[in-house]
Amino acid sequence: MRAEIIATGTEILLGEIVDTNTSFLAGELAALGIDIHFASSVGDNYERFSGVLRQAWQRSDIIITTGGLGPTQGDITRDVIAAFLSEQTYVDEGLKQNLIDFFSRVGVPMPENNLRQARLIPSAKALLNPLGTAPGWWVEKEGRTIITLPGPPGELKPMWRSQVVPRLQQQSGAVIISRVLKTWGLSESKVDEVTAPLLSSPNPTVAIYARQDGIVLRITAKAPAAEAARELIARKEAEIRGVLQEHVWGVDEDTLAGVVGHLLESKNLTIAVSETLTCGLLAYTLASTPGNTRYFKGGIVINTPEAIFNRERAAELAGNHASQQNAAAMASSVRAQFNADIGIGLDGDAAKSDSVGGAQLGKVFIAIDTGHTEHNASQVYSGRPGQLARRATQQTLYTLRNLLLRP
Ligand code: ATP
Repeated sequence: MRAEIIATGTEILLGEIVDTNTSFLAGELAALGIDIHFASSVGDNYERFSGVLRQAWQRSDIIITTGGLGPTQGDITRDVIAAFLSEQTYVDEGLKQNLIDFFSRVGVPMPENNLRQARLIPSAKALLNPLGTAPGWWVEKEGRTIITLPGPPGELKPMWRSQVVPRLQQQSGAVIISRVLKTWGLSESKVDEVTAPLLSSPNPTVAIYARQDGIVLRITAKAPAAEAARELIARKEAEIRGVLQEHVWGVDEDTLAGVVGHLLESKNLTIAVSETLTCGLLAYTLASTPGNTRYFKGGIVINTPEAIFNRERAAELAGNHASQQNAAAMASSVRAQFNADIGIGLDGDAAKSDSVGGAQLGKVFIAIDTGHTEHNASQVYSGRPGQLARRATQQTLYTLRNLLLRP
């Protein structure tokens, strides 16, 4: 099966929004073992959209459109598809009722325009949109499938996962399951090198990607039934974990902050953080994790040691230069201030870094004070300041996770 994505919206062509729907869908299709040969963007223009659709119909089995399902005259996806297939749209009573219910839940009278969103054509089945007003379409005709999804990623993704993936799997007659292993502390090329002997199998397949939270490996297995696919994945996962060991810190939707949170909770420990370079990103990351109030006491953001230490103590520390000594002092100070079991100090210097080909080099100093032991680590990263902060945050969480895993 060959798939093609058409992202609609003049905003994309004007550079006002980034087409993240295509990258999401492309990754999902690859994971499902469906080849994707073309992806295009087209503005909200009837003729040009029809032209792109005609081309897609000639060369692809599955065509996925995103956007243009809103209630206004400018939302033309339904009209373009109906005209292309020579079918008439009609108002579906069930979809109309869903819209009426949606508007009554939010306490707003339904504008007449929204009725456009209750329209179907005879070859289309509705893909329900619990988070918005625009249902999608699943159209099967002449051996092709057209799938229309709304533009907002927060609506598209759950619809894709709950309604489109099961239908695509049913269509292919096989169950395709994938599992993502998340790693930290190894470069993409290192992961590739050490896992190379495990990557050549046709089923399950293993693909390696660099993500913001580290290098991930996606294992995808295809089998007649889910249990058999899961078994194939489990075997491959065990082999990969055997090679990458403690670098694998999570799977699928796990986050490092979530993993750390579980460990802290299971050990009945609390934590407080003090940070310079990351300007609160570490505290924000911890505080954005569900259940964090059970272990995260709080944090402070400081720019100079004088902000928290008296003048003599501050002078002892290395001026405004980031240092391991600063990080250690910050860790023990914040631990005491917040009366936490663990204090973390994260100091770093990106502003005074060298410049290599436009990228900055930043040195990050991490200190973890548990009251019994002090753990210190430093790391050099290259990247833009925002990237440095994200990497420093991930590195700190990873270091803490490894410390908490020690017997
Ligand atoms: P709605 O009913 O909300 O209007 P729609 O299906 O008509 O949905 P659009 O009007 O095309 O969708 O886009 C709505 C918003 O969704 C855009 O302003 C943008 O924020 C987001 N969006 C649209 N297409 C994409 C895309 N390809 N990638 C990422 N975001 C997108």
